[in-house]
Amino acid sequence: MSEYSLRRSDERLQVTRPQLSKIVLRRLPPTWCERPSLAATPLALALLAGCAGAPRPTPLGPRTAPLVVERTVAPRPPLRITRVVHASVLIECDGATLLTDPWFTQTAHYPPREALGVPPDSMSPLSAVVSTMNHYDHFDLDALAPGMVGQAPVVVPAGTRQAERARSRGFAVRALGPGDSTRAGPFLITGVAARPTNATATAFDYEQAWRIDACGWRVLVVGHRLTEAQARAAGPVDIALLPVNALRIKPLFKRLSLSPPEAAAVAFAASAPLAVPMHYRYRSSWLWERLVVAHPGTAEAFAEAARARGVTSLVVTPGQTIELRAR
Ligand SMILES: [Zn+2]
Repeated sequence: MSEYSLRRSDERLQVTRPQLSKIVLRRLPPTWCERPSLAATPLALALLAGCAGAPRPTPLGPRTAPLVVERTVAPRPPLRITRVVHASVLIECDGATLLTDPWFTQTAHYPPREALGVPPDSMSPLSAVVSTMNHYDHFDLDALAPGMVGQAPVVVPAGTRQAERARSRGFAVRALGPGDSTRAGPFLITGVAARPTNATATAFDYEQAWRIDACGWRVLVVGHRLTEAQARAAGPVDIALLPVNALRIKPLFKRLSLSPPEAAAVAFAASAPLAVPMHYRYRSSWLWERLVVAHPGTAEAFAEAARARGVTSLVVTPGQTIELRAR
C-alpha cells in the first residue's frame, strides 16, 4: 500500500491505494498509413487527407484498483471520478453519473494511444454529458448513441456549432455561456470562461471549462486551456482535471493546451488540493508528428510541477477510479 499526504492549513489529506495497481498502457498497433515507409512516399502525401479514414472503435483496456482519497471535510456522500480515456471522465455520486468530453473512436491522425477504460454501453443511464469544445477528441458525437444518453441533457458551450450538431442527432441540448448553470440529477453544472471573448473565437478555437458541484464536492473540468485568473474565479474546488500535453500546431506555432507548469499553476490558482493530469497520451500518425503537431507535456512533468505548487497529483490510467471520501 502506498500513501501520500498533503498538509494544508486546515486539513490532512490522505491518498491510499487499496491494493497495488499495475499500470497497464497498451500500445495500439499502427494502422497502414502510420508506417514510416509508406508515409514518406508521394503517394502517402496525396492520400494524406484520406489517411485519417473512418473512425474505428478504440479498444477496451483493463480496469485497475481505485484510489481512495480521504479529506477532513463535513460528512457527505463519496464522489467517484473514473478516467474513460484522454480528457473524458465519468463523475458519479448518489447513484447518478455524468460523462465529460466523450471520445470513443479513433482515426489514423487522432488515436488516443491509450485503451478505453469504460465501455460506452455500460455507462447508461447518464444524468448528463458535458463537452468543453467542438473537437473530435472532446465531442465524439457520432459515437455517442442517443440510446445511451436517453433524455439526459448534452451540455455544451453557447455560441458554437455544438448545440446545432447535437440537436440534429436528437439529443436534448443545453447551451450555456460562462457563469450560466444548469441542474441534472445531483449535478450542478456551471460554465467557466476559458477564452477572453467568444465574439472573436472561431468554432475551432472556442472552448469552455466547467465546474461540477455534486454531493458537496466541487470539480473543475478543463478541456485545453484556462488562465490562472479564470481558475481563481472558478475556485475553490476539491479537485481539478487538467490537460497537460502542451499541444501545438506546428505550422502556426499555435498552442492549444496547457503545459505541465501552466496546469499546475491553474490547479494552485483554483485552490485545488488534488489534480488529475489528462490529455497526454495522444500521438498522431508518423507524418503528422513530423509536420503538424507537437505535444511535449507529460503526466510525470505535471506531477513534478504540481508538487512544487503543493498540489497532490493523481496520475490514473483509463479505467481507474478516484473516490473522494469525507472523514
Ligand atoms: Zn484536445
